[in-house]
Amino acid sequence: MSSAPLSAGDYIAAKCTKCGQETNHTIVAMVEDLPVKVQCNTCNGAHKYRKPAAAKKTAAAKKPATRRTKADPQAVERQQWQELEPSFNASAAIAYSMDTTYKLNALINHPTFGLGQVQKLAGTRKVLVLFADGAKVLRCG
Ligand SMILES: [Zn+2]
Repeated sequence: MSSAPLSAGDYIAAKCTKCGQETNHTIVAMVEDLPVKVQCNTCNGAHKYRKPAAAKKTAAAKKPATRRTKADPQAVERQQWQELEPSFNASAAIAYSMDTTYKLNALINHPTFGLGQVQKLAGTRKVLVLFADGAKVLRCG
């Protein structure tokens, strides 16, 4: 658009709902650079400004931002587990139970997550356990 910025009081061609055709309108109200309300010079009816068909927006091909490559926090944990795993004495692993108290670095055998090592005592009756699939917080005694 090379024309000067529009302002209220200017004339603009717009489709009039009452006249049923494109007529000259006077801009009544503007929001930023766009007329929002216009008055038809033919029928004097005021209405919202509609863009002429020619100015129809070509649907912008917006790419959905779903394919974000985000860092997998568990990847680090899995790698950590793989480094620790050779040092694990699986036969010393304690079967996991919510009622058992675990010490730091204790080996746990969890029915779902498998072999894991207590990394941290995570507050009251919770431990952070590193499993092959990543760290998980488990209830404990
Ligand atoms: Zn009109």
